[in-house]
Amino acid sequence: MDFDFTEEQRDFRSALRTLVDNDIIPVANEWERSGRYPTEIVEKLKTMGLFGITTPEQYGGMAVDKVTFTLVYEELARGWMGIAGILGSHNLSCWMIDRHGTTEQKDRWLPRLATGEARTGIGLTEPGAGTDLQGISTTARRDGDVYVVNGTKTWITNARHADVLPVLVKTDPAASPRHRGMSLLLIDTKTPGFEVQRDLGKLGYKGTESCEILMTDVRVPVTDLLGGAEGLGMKQALSGLEIGRLNIAGRSVGIAQASYDAALKYAREREAFGKPIADFQAIQLKLADIATQLQAARLMTYWAAAKADTGARVDMEAGMAKYFASETAITASLEAMRVHGGYGYSTEFDVERYYRDAPLMSIGEGTNDIMRTIIAKSLVSGSGIIA
Ligand SMILES: Cc1cc2nc3c(=O)[nH]c(=O)nc-3n(C[C@H](O)[C@H](O)[C@H](O)COP(=O)(O)OP(=O)(O)OC[C@H]3O[C@@H](n4cnc5c(N)ncnc54)[C@H](O)[C@@H]3O)c2cc1C
Repeated sequence: MDFDFTEEQRDFRSALRTLVDNDIIPVANEWERSGRYPTEIVEKLKTMGLFGITTPEQYGGMAVDKVTFTLVYEELARGWMGIAGILGSHNLSCWMIDRHGTTEQKDRWLPRLATGEARTGIGLTEPGAGTDLQGISTTARRDGDVYVVNGTKTWITNARHADVLPVLVKTDPAASPRHRGMSLLLIDTKTPGFEVQRDLGKLGYKGTESCEILMTDVRVPVTDLLGGAEGLGMKQALSGLEIGRLNIAGRSVGIAQASYDAALKYAREREAFGKPIADFQAIQLKLADIATQLQAARLMTYWAAAKADTGARVDMEAGMAKYFASETAITASLEAMRVHGGYGYSTEFDVERYYRDAPLMSIGEGTNDIMRTIIAKSLVSGSGIIA
């Protein structure tokens, strides 16, 4: 089996590493603490074309393969996970628009989204429904050639910077099964009645905003219905979440790598009882555990991504990668903190940030409990084969 990157992937990773080492790691802690928006980093992401990694060349993007896609998130999260969040839902929605949008919708949005000139995110979750998306209560009532949208969305990342937001709505609230009455609308965020209300306080994942959005009688042209047909919204959103899970797996590997790097460096430098703590077997066991799980998570992530590149559905593979890698990120950041002793609890050291950023990886794009049910479903139905 060949686990090597292509030359192109290696060069791309090297360019990403330079960006992360020079422009992200040196400012991450300070900017995170001050709550400053990382505008300069966003400009660098634009220059590197990273807002267009899921958009085809014909619209000005570079539609990279899925292994390269996970590398982007891995490297950015190694520096600062919040930065990966700026691209996460943006690239997911670009992918959905390209895959499901009408020609007019693609022509209108993708060229500007691919360069980062226009920005996007994804509006699914509501105060009363997250995992159970079919339980949303946002409605879109048809009135001539517009939909009138009313409802509230919550936890919407990149909401303040989005120019267009795919929003999951009920076009037929009485439909049975419920998903048949659900649609995605590409809402221009300047439309009257669309209001980003407040930024939600968060444990970590700083640098990018996650907000509550109130929609009051927002009039959305019927031409902005994704794909031009009602009732497909749930399916379209779920198809996007599949690549979203690869993104989360990549980010998790990045957090685990950063935790490992910090733990190893500190263990070599810190002395106790007249020798580096790396000489104590208790510390060595932690380093061995973090490194082993990290490498397993990384290989599982590339495996799922490579399978996605074949065009196959990867519910089970992406679910496994996201589940395993995110649990690895949580454990690795905690163990790295233990290696640092009291300093690990200090905001002066990066491990404290990794520890606050890691848990979101077990929640976003479907909680890990849901990942396990998806994996099990594939196994039981016979569509997921483990040999
Ligand atoms: C920082 C942050 C950023 C986010 N960004 C976005 C965004 O940009 N766009 C967006 O749309 N959403 C976003 N979300 C929302 C996120 O996707 C949801 O929080 C997540 O899907 C879980 O939904 P919930 O919070 O409603 O939890 P719930 O669905 O209420 O789940 C609560 C618990 O019940 C469990 N549970 C629920 N149903 C089942 C079941 N059938 N079987 C087993 N266990 C179950 C869950 O696993 C969980 O442990 C973000 C969340 C956070 C915290």
